[in-house]
Amino acid sequence: MQLIRKTVSSVSVDESLPRKEVLLLNASEESIGLITWQRATSLLFSGKAHPPYNFDYYFRLSTTSGDFDLPTAIILAKYVRIPRRIMPLTRKNVLKRDEGMCQYCSTPLGMDTITVDHVHPTSKGGRNEWRNVVAACQPCNAKKGNRLLSECRDINLSRKPWVPTNYNILQPSPKDSLLGWDRWILKPATRG
Ligand SMILES: [Zn+2]
Repeated sequence: MQLIRKTVSSVSVDESLPRKEVLLLNASEESIGLITWQRATSLLFSGKAHPPYNFDYYFRLSTTSGDFDLPTAIILAKYVRIPRRIMPLTRKNVLKRDEGMCQYCSTPLGMDTITVDHVHPTSKGGRNEWRNVVAACQPCNAKKGNRLLSECRDINLSRKPWVPTNYNILQPSPKDSLLGWDRWILKPATRG
């Protein structure tokens, strides 16, 4: 049974990519979010999803029964309503919401370099909640210290922190566009 279409012009994706995540699209082609390749494979084989039309980006998967090409994006056969939910406040999610950048100086950050700054310091009654935390680099965080934003002349917050939903956090980053996701991530779902 040939469920996965192979095309001559398919773009081969580096096999060494640490995570083979597949972009799941609703039947309306609205982006739902990233799922594991295992879940994507199961959705395809059960007929609950299909590859996008005219789409040539695949992960090559090696299995005991041979290689097969898994599209980097799949579309659900039936529209499903995905309720919005607020994402848990974790370093990883803060990094994602803040697009991998220090919110004071725009330095690119990774999981190894991000610090989470409380805009209104907890020592002054600030809460540990989405509207009070931002991704910050170590130097900015140290520089700001325990000061309120109003007390800082040397540091500016680039964007007011906001509460993200699954629609924001589970989306791919623009830097993932090599996987052929541009046409969906350029028009992301509305911010929650
Ligand atoms: Zn910084």
